[in-house]
Amino acid sequence: MSKTQTPRPIRGTQDIFGPEAEAFAFVVETFERVRKLYRFRRVEMPVFEKTEVFSRAIGETTDVVSKEMYSFEDRGGESLTLRPEFTAGIARAYLTDGWQQYAPLKVATHGPLFRYERPQKGRYRQFHQIDAEIIGAAEPQADVELLCMADQLLKELGIEGVTLHLNTLGDGDSREAWRAALIDYFGAVQGELSEDSQERLHKNPLRILDSKDPRDRKFVGDAPRIDQFLSDDARAFFDAVTSGLDAAGVKWERAESLVRGLDYYRHTAFEFIPDEGSAAANALGSQSTVLGGGRYDGLMESLGGAPTPAVGWAAGIERLAMLVGEKGEAGADVIVVVEEDAAMASAIAALGKLRAANLSCELIASGSPRKRFDKAVKANPEGILAFSVRDGEETWRVRGDVPITQDIEKALS
Ligand code: ATP
Ligand code: MG
Repeated sequence: MSKTQTPRPIRGTQDIFGPEAEAFAFVVETFERVRKLYRFRRVEMPVFEKTEVFSRAIGETTDVVSKEMYSFEDRGGESLTLRPEFTAGIARAYLTDGWQQYAPLKVATHGPLFRYERPQKGRYRQFHQIDAEIIGAAEPQADVELLCMADQLLKELGIEGVTLHLNTLGDGDSREAWRAALIDYFGAVQGELSEDSQERLHKNPLRILDSKDPRDRKFVGDAPRIDQFLSDDARAFFDAVTSGLDAAGVKWERAESLVRGLDYYRHTAFEFIPDEGSAAANALGSQSTVLGGGRYDGLMESLGGAPTPAVGWAAGIERLAMLVGEKGEAGADVIVVVEEDAAMASAIAALGKLRAANLSCELIASGSPRKRFDKAVKANPEGILAFSVRDGEETWRVRGDVPITQDIEKALS
């Protein structure tokens, strides 16, 4: 290839700029504010892990592990994988870094994730999530708190027309009994199912319930329901979650065929999904889940740890950003215009003082002096501060009689 040709970006990656970048930042900033209200501690996690962290924690039969991972051998011959999700790495850290001592531990993070998927609207190969987890808490109150946090986040983002769809997968025993019944039921019509579902039948029959293939859909309606198999404990757990949500005023809908694709989920499973016909549904098209999660009490054992109850969720930042609407880049509080270059030093000193006083500002000191002022007016700031030289003395003045004048004078005094 010619050296003069510019390399193309990688398929499924994005260069986020302008209003979209502002919307992205708004999502992250709002998440940071809300996670502090709920007292989740911030963590920063590695972008890659040993491949087995994901294959063991997420499960070999899932789409994520079997089809979507970016795995490679490093120079030492070790198989590593770019993280496709946060939970597995956080669980690994909980075990290897002795975070058990902080249990119940509430942590939050955000950053890029990587999945080899077919890129389309709202679906990328490098995407970003915000993520919240409560580890070492077995009580349904933990699920309630996490869901309240998700609900408040969406409200603070101004996102409307998105509803919490909620299900229970029961405890280990309920889930096993349900699973066996699903294998019987779908096994009887195996030949009529989609290829994917025939393949899933014994490995991951719950997944057939959320198949979008019409060949599977026609059998899903009459499939055995988890409610027939719930143990008393599992039912009491689910009742506690739903009454907690009702007490908190969080609206929810029962979604009996909602299952999480990952093997380690128990009890609560949930997704926030745009309502049919809503603006949110129009904006996202078919990629409709914005936030999903659940309880994953079985995960720590798959990584060789002691049984540890935990619950968490993740939301795609890009999908949330598409729903928060246009976020323009905010205008400057003050634009500092240097009318004569001799006044440059005073202007630079003033910029420092204004920013120290928490006023956002920008310098205009290039182009013809006459045009500098026009440029500043066009940028439409709260105030324009002009520097010039009169009678050999550097002076400044605030243009016009604007409310911000006093703040500027105070900052410069
Ligand atoms: P989907 O059914 O859309 O593939 P998923 O079940 O794979 O979602 P999770 O693993 O639960 O998704 O991830 C949580 C959230 O992360 C999703 O609800 C979505 O907002 C976002 N997400 C997942 N995959 C992608 C992707 N490839 N590009 C952009 N966002 C994504
Ligand atoms: Mg997926």
